[in-house]
Amino acid sequence: MPKFFVISSDKSSLKFVSPIVIYKTITGLIGEVSNIKKLNNGHLLIEVKNKQQSENITQLKKIGEFQVNVAVHRSLNHSRGVISEREFQRDLEDILDCLKDQKVIAVRRITIKRNNQILPTKHLILTFNTPTLPKSVKITYINCPVKPYIPDPLRCFKCQKFGHTITACRGDKEICARCSLPDHNSKNCSSTTAKCYNCEGDHPAYFRSCPRYKEEKEIQTVKITKNVSFPEGRKIVNDRTPKPGLSYSSALPLRGTSSIDVTGFTTPRYPSVLSPSVFSSTSVYCFFFFPSRVGEGALHEKLSPLCLLPASHGQQNTPTCWPCVATH
Ligand SMILES: [Zn+2]
Ligand SMILES: [Zn+2]
Ligand SMILES: [Zn+2]
Repeated sequence: MPKFFVISSDKSSLKFVSPIVIYKTITGLIGEVSNIKKLNNGHLLIEVKNKQQSENITQLKKIGEFQVNVAVHRSLNHSRGVISEREFQRDLEDILDCLKDQKVIAVRRITIKRNNQILPTKHLILTFNTPTLPKSVKITYINCPVKPYIPDPLRCFKCQKFGHTITACRGDKEICARCSLPDHNSKNCSSTTAKCYNCEGDHPAYFRSCPRYKEEKEIQTVKITKNVSFPEGRKIVNDRTPKPGLSYSSALPLRGTSSIDVTGFTTPRYPSVLSPSVFSSTSVYCFFFFPSRVGEGALHEKLSPLCLLPASHGQQNTPTCWPCVATH
């Protein structure tokens, strides 16, 4: 049952409706809900309490004088986790079948690319049809602990900003990932020095230790492990990273800020395995699932060769791509 809904109206008109009218209309129709939030774009994010409310909220047609549209939130109703049980690596369809009654709706293997070969790992990403991740799943008689899956931050290969892919890029200029100058890319860059577009540091935009990349990654981790929106995740990270006289984000250039979708949440909740990206066999792969400071059980692991399954498992062609290993 979907728990999160977005209520929208033409031309963001809900922005101008009184919270009292909003509250009375919604609770009058379906009773007290868990949460109502007006987003910056004027849409409302509603978290319902139960199945009845989940069904009834779709009957809402009007708030105040405005016609409204109610839609299931496209990402908050799902969660993704990783299991790393070596015994269950061969047949994804069988695994999915075993997990269907545990709210799993998709299973995908994590692969890495090395020496131009795509290699399967023992890690499987499970998508759950529920916002809350279970601590474990049971496949036949084996209990598999589930760790939160935290996608790496997306970086656009065209404009270099974080938060969207090249296909969703609205930038009109191509920016070089190596030198940050426009109208060429890193493959034909002739600059002798590197400069990051996002933080202006002396490294390329794909540098793993770029402070902007690390910040995005940490926000992503907070967002998922605490189940909050991207802006809320950013606030939490900023608040706990005090800088003398400066906040974390204000200490850095504002470039490359993640784009926010119409609901005020980051657009791609599951970007890593879904977005078409390129990665280099020469790059040091670094699928960290996840930092760290949050310490809420997020898997913090670097893939080691031990994680790789033999190629004979027939998974070489899995079309997986990892922005974390993406370089130009
Ligand atoms: Zn872009
Ligand atoms: Zn360049
Ligand atoms: Zn940088």
